[in-house]
Amino acid sequence: MKIPFSEKLSLLHMGDDHPLRGDRYSRAIERFRELGLKFETVEFPVATDDEISLFHTHDYINKVKEISQRGWPDISPDTPGFKGVYEAAAWSVGATLEAVRIAEKEGVSANLAGGWHHAFPETGRGFCVFSDTGIAIQWLRSRGKKVIIIDYDAHHGDGIQKVFGNEKDVITVSFHQDPDTLYPYVTGHVEETTPININVPLPPLSGANELVYAFSEIIPPLVEREKPDFAIVEMGVDGHCSCYVANLAISKEGYRQVAEILRNTLMERGIPMVMVGGGGFVYPHFAEAWAVQLATLEKQELNLKLNDCLSKPSMDRVKDTVNRVKKLASL
Ligand SMILES: [Zn+2]
Repeated sequence: MKIPFSEKLSLLHMGDDHPLRGDRYSRAIERFRELGLKFETVEFPVATDDEISLFHTHDYINKVKEISQRGWPDISPDTPGFKGVYEAAAWSVGATLEAVRIAEKEGVSANLAGGWHHAFPETGRGFCVFSDTGIAIQWLRSRGKKVIIIDYDAHHGDGIQKVFGNEKDVITVSFHQDPDTLYPYVTGHVEETTPININVPLPPLSGANELVYAFSEIIPPLVEREKPDFAIVEMGVDGHCSCYVANLAISKEGYRQVAEILRNTLMERGIPMVMVGGGGFVYPHFAEAWAVQLATLEKQELNLKLNDCLSKPSMDRVKDTVNRVKKLASL
């Protein structure tokens, strides 16, 4: 697999004691090499203003440029502003757009420094400056493609739902911790589900069994019915039990099984797919949970302990949730 990567991605550094540190990508690449994952890094261009404005307003882009020059104020209460933040965020968008171009030719690619699903067109939010996936979706739509975005980061993909939730040529799906118990708190409930915008909230401390069950009940029939031309997958691993920004307990075995479903459902049908990193902030777990997914997509085996989380079973509640979601989504 070709992975767009350069040291420029380390510019997206929100502070030495902030979860979103710039060194997470180079550390992940280093861990991938130690694990023996087969991949190749490739250089890529920075995103242009024209590309960023496919999703964001000109006013917001200009505001980020001003903050970037001064180094202050913050972009939003939960999204720090710093010197160079515009360039840093534009490089991460560039990596996702390059991953899309690679996937169109080669079937699959990944941007570890992507998945900024909380950004809105007019503002950054929740550590997310520019919505790389929102920009990629708009770029694909402008070329007539129907896109499915599948997000199993621990947090609801609220920026993506807000912009694309009612658009017939974009299918949005988010599996996440129950938003009554986690950011973004206001969206991501079952009741928001429609046939083209699907939300599957999981109770806190849910584990691999619950995620894999929900995923296997929804993704294969949805892909079969909608027949997308392109898939963007937010493989965020902040739902791993090691990660302190959420309260899920999904093991690496859970992420492996989800990747297996993606391979069987999307890749084996020839649907190009881009994986973006999303959350996951505790080393080496975020690197390993990404690695196991990328390895599984390409039928590579890694020597890793996969059953590494103790979860609190919530299958009865999840089965009930999945039944309600399937009814609302006509699945
Ligand atoms: Zn997250």
